[in-house]
Amino acid sequence: MRYCAKCLMPDTRPGSIFDDKGVCQACINYEKRKTIDWEERRKQLRKLCDKYRREDGYYDCVIPVSGGKDSHFLVYTMKEEMGMNPLLITVGDPFTKTEAGLRNYRNLGDTFGCDHILFDLSIDLFRRVTRIAFEELGNPLRFVEAAIYSVPIKMAIQFGIPLIVYGENSAYEYGTTDRESYSAMETISRIFKSIDMDFWLQRRISRKEVNAIIPPTKEKLEEVQPEPIFMSYFSPWSSTTHLGIVKRYGFRDLAHEWKREGCIEDFEQIDSVAYMVHLWLKYPKFGFQRTSDIASRRVREGTLSLSEAKKLIMEHDHKLDQRAMDDFINFLRYTPKQFWDIIEKFWNRDIFEKVEGVWRLKKSIYEEFMKI
Ligand SMILES: [Zn+2]
Repeated sequence: MRYCAKCLMPDTRPGSIFDDKGVCQACINYEKRKTIDWEERRKQLRKLCDKYRREDGYYDCVIPVSGGKDSHFLVYTMKEEMGMNPLLITVGDPFTKTEAGLRNYRNLGDTFGCDHILFDLSIDLFRRVTRIAFEELGNPLRFVEAAIYSVPIKMAIQFGIPLIVYGENSAYEYGTTDRESYSAMETISRIFKSIDMDFWLQRRISRKEVNAIIPPTKEKLEEVQPEPIFMSYFSPWSSTTHLGIVKRYGFRDLAHEWKREGCIEDFEQIDSVAYMVHLWLKYPKFGFQRTSDIASRRVREGTLSLSEAKKLIMEHDHKLDQRAMDDFINFLRYTPKQFWDIIEKFWNRDIFEKVEGVWRLKKSIYEEFMKI
């Protein structure tokens, strides 16, 4: 396990790329931002909007939203700045919602005046697929994440709206690719290809229950020719700048509601309580989770020093939030013991060792981290 010499991002992140100086692709991509003509890209976005803008008042783009900060930023940009008439689509999960999450979800329609479709998976199905994905893959939201891509694209096709607006190109921002494009089509095709229908059908999920994750057919795609785009291509992606903007439009963070363990901010991924468990599961598998993600990003952006980042990672990154875990196990009907027994098999033996019954990063890896 290596850590990026500049930002501390570990190479256990699936798909991560490092150069021969030990610098991660996310840092290299971030540096490239400085040479980008953002004015020019803004013009490109406007041109793209003009291509799809409708004079008859019909919806002219679809924005898949969760209700969070990025959703607010996308709706703000498309509606307020580009003057488009978006249709918002949410694929919900039935985990307990935070108060801020509920208010933010409603705020999108209230502040921006957009129509908004909520697609809720069957709660019984959600519970079963989430249990399967948690127990077998250590990735509880595998099914829901497939639905999050399939449903809005199929709806956009059904409504006859080609332009679909996504937020950040996370492959590029987190450095698992060095190629940047405004089109999200390649990413989405890759996600569609990775949906393994047989996996579910072989685990007593019936054909009737997998509709939400079935990708659109080739014929349908050709008929409407959807154009999914990443906003991060047109606008430099910065959580702190975006936060400043969306707060003026009624977005609420968790500051007055919940201080989450294992996390060092209170405005990202805040909609549902149990979601933190999904994020934390990267820790046993790859030796890092949310605090590392945020700290690395802030180091890259120049708002956090390397030594401060190290301190935060050591103090917080291993922690699983108790409230999130309680919500997760209550909803999925596990006891705490059952939960931890399942986790047991996911601890990556290459990087963790068990010391007095507790899994810890191996001494050699810890020393590697401290060397940076
Ligand atoms: Zn880096």
